[in-house]
Amino acid sequence: MTVTVTAIVGANWGDEGKGKVTDYLAAQADVVVRFQGGANAGHTVINDYGKFALHLLPSGVFYPHVTNVLGPGVALDIDVFLRERDELIRRGVPEPALRISSRAQVVIPFHPLLDSYEEERRGQGAFGSTRRGIAPIYADKAAKVGVQVADLSDERRLCDRLAASLAAKNVLFERLYGKPRMDVEELTAGLVEAGKQIRPYVCDTVELLYKTLDDGRAVLLEGQLGALRDPDHGIYPYTTSSSPLAGFASVGAGIPPYRITRIVAVAKAYSTCVGAGPFVTELSGAEGDELRERGGSDGEYGATTGRPRRVGWFDAVATQYGCRVQGATDVALSLLDVLGYLDEIPVCVAYEVYGERTDRFPEPPLLDRATPVYERWPGWRCDISNVRTYEALPLNAQAYVRRIEELVGVPITLISVGPGRKQTIVR
Ligand code: GDP
Ligand code: MG
Repeated sequence: MTVTVTAIVGANWGDEGKGKVTDYLAAQADVVVRFQGGANAGHTVINDYGKFALHLLPSGVFYPHVTNVLGPGVALDIDVFLRERDELIRRGVPEPALRISSRAQVVIPFHPLLDSYEEERRGQGAFGSTRRGIAPIYADKAAKVGVQVADLSDERRLCDRLAASLAAKNVLFERLYGKPRMDVEELTAGLVEAGKQIRPYVCDTVELLYKTLDDGRAVLLEGQLGALRDPDHGIYPYTTSSSPLAGFASVGAGIPPYRITRIVAVAKAYSTCVGAGPFVTELSGAEGDELRERGGSDGEYGATTGRPRRVGWFDAVATQYGCRVQGATDVALSLLDVLGYLDEIPVCVAYEVYGERTDRFPEPPLLDRATPVYERWPGWRCDISNVRTYEALPLNAQAYVRRIEELVGVPITLISVGPGRKQTIVR
């Protein structure tokens, strides 16, 4: 039997339904790993326990047989971690098996503050950050002034590292933002205490995953956001601060790259985007409002912030790129049911940039100039949320799926027709 390591990643701007797909696929997995990002994620899972928006915990937490790992690439917000664990238990989910990498970076209370202060300072030019401290923590990691989970159990070392980091931050707080300074002793005490609370979960997750693979057990790597938010390959600077790509899953989880044999890119049957930046197929006015209200499990509103998501038609240029840049072996096409109200469904098959047609996803300055070239496909005008096989889908829905598959160039092996675990078609 071949053991699979499957990465589940976003092909678009995020919010493609990775949580739902991970919750579905985790039935067959032994370990589910979050490999990057932090509590800025919002992965909606709807199953027999209810509806959940997971920010930090991997979407395998609903299965007692799954070990859920926060890998070294994650930004660990300890408060969110503990709150999320408690909420699951309070709502009747069996206590999940959780592990935290001793090398994960810890969100320090000044990270969310810096994030908020900086967004406020930028005013009109704000990025639309979720203000969970993600940009500041990854900046600190790169600048080598971050704190790893392992540092929390060495008070002296922790205090020294915080003091070094705080020296510059206090200048920013006082001089740039006009806010109060922070005290290193207070921060240290709080973090030492927080460290004690997570100690039972902390381990060397590389060793854990090595043994898991050695035993021939199956692993899922759950990405956050999507390819277009990657700092290198995405729509810079409207990106996130860690790589959400399948290629990074190897690094952020600590698994050999060649062990990842299946890369499932989750692509949405239409487009949504939270935050600022170019969005070629964006809809405004009544058309956009209708798609937003009909979209998602309860309208297209951010699972972390509640903000209305920007919506648009399916963008084959962006999605093909989002799949190529990660080497997707499979596409999971999500939210197909949402489009059942339309007589005709526009699909963006190319861009026009300065009067020239292209199907290449351009760099940000050109993307700003791109306008969509649409093809129109006949809608199916019915509810498909109870359909469980591809053959039972209306012929127009099948044709839509096949056209997207052709444009994106990757087999669509899974189709999601509703937010619930069971509303899934394996093709
Ligand atoms: P993630 O961040 O990629 O996990 O996606 P989110 O959970 O942020 O956003 C996806 C939204 O669509 C959530 O409200 C899900 O409950 C919902 N959803 C996921 N798959 C489907 C689907 O196939 N159909 C419908 N109608 N909603 C879905
Ligand atoms: Mg989300």
